[in-house]
Amino acid sequence: MAQVLPFCVLQMDTRSGSQCSITPEAILNNEELVLPPRISRVNGWSLPLHYFQVVTWAVFVGLSLATFRIFIPLLPPAWKYIAYVVTGGIFSFHLVIHLIASCIDPADSNVRLMKNYSQPMPIFDRSKHAHVIQNQFCHLCKVTVNKKTKHCISCNKCVSGFDHHCKWINNCVGSQNYWFFFSTVASATAGMLCLIAILLYVLVQYLVNPRVLRTDPKYEDVKNMNTWLLFLPLFPVQVQTLIVVIIGMLVLLLDFLGLVHLGQLLIFHIYLKAKKMTTFEYLINTRKEETSKHQAVRKDPYLQMDKGFLQQGDGALGSSAQGVKAKSSLLIHKHLCHFCTSVNQDGDSTAREGDEDPCPSALGLQQETTEPMKTDSAESED
Ligand SMILES: [Zn+2]
Ligand SMILES: [Zn+2]
Repeated sequence: MAQVLPFCVLQMDTRSGSQCSITPEAILNNEELVLPPRISRVNGWSLPLHYFQVVTWAVFVGLSLATFRIFIPLLPPAWKYIAYVVTGGIFSFHLVIHLIASCIDPADSNVRLMKNYSQPMPIFDRSKHAHVIQNQFCHLCKVTVNKKTKHCISCNKCVSGFDHHCKWINNCVGSQNYWFFFSTVASATAGMLCLIAILLYVLVQYLVNPRVLRTDPKYEDVKNMNTWLLFLPLFPVQVQTLIVVIIGMLVLLLDFLGLVHLGQLLIFHIYLKAKKMTTFEYLINTRKEETSKHQAVRKDPYLQMDKGFLQQGDGALGSSAQGVKAKSSLLIHKHLCHFCTSVNQDGDSTAREGDEDPCPSALGLQQETTEPMKTDSAESED
């Protein structure tokens, strides 16, 4: 499952402290400081729009045009009508469900009841509270929230049954809209599979017998086999074969990339449902495991040697078999320890690797062995 995570990056901060959930700032890939909007976002259409969201809709419109106005009209009559019904049904379902997933406000019920979205949110004061949500009370939203509610940094509001913040629909995904989000991903995957099947059929028929692709009545007036019609049946536009081939290749490439992305995401969410976990819980568990490995690495006798070796310079590491193992352990440590870089309140980034003191993650895990997991923040992208 780990290979799915590039599409589902979640930020969190396991600083020690009291009870749960989110900081007003978070780290993106340990580098970028993310600040919450002053006005809480309502849903996926709250400004600013995210460019992922714009790309998503542009791709949807582009693939719809290519599917229904270029490639399905090339199919033989019987297949054409089946393709219009099946693919049209899937694309229509996707359009409706995608809009619903974007339009729903997934906020905690108390937030929706009591919050005035037009009012600017307060700035979180860490000197007063260690965490935004403590004892199921959000210090920013000023309401009591449910147990599985998290305060989303991108929306700057509490989201019930928080799963992740999705940049593709530009909305949080929580218990209110999870199945709409899941259906959006599933229907997009199904639609892309249909489009690939149509494209492959057209490609094979073009190589085997191009006349099979020219059964539309409008082709009766087109005698040149090097001329094709786009935007049938209503607005036929004559183009050369090369144009159709280029469009076909571009659409196939776009469709294939989208299918790989969506397929991975769909499998990941099926896996999560089988495990009865949210994306947030999955990533918290993953971080716990990584931190455990990190601690194991810190106990590694070879790693214990690395400080001495480093003081002597990297050349010493490569001079013996033990040195190679020590260097390898150090690399593993650096790979596993995502918590080693922290962002201070003022935005300074502090690299902790190589510090003498245990890194924040190690401290966090020591606490977590006796207490429930205490996470500070979360934001993810699909
Ligand atoms: Zn809140
Ligand atoms: Zn959000």
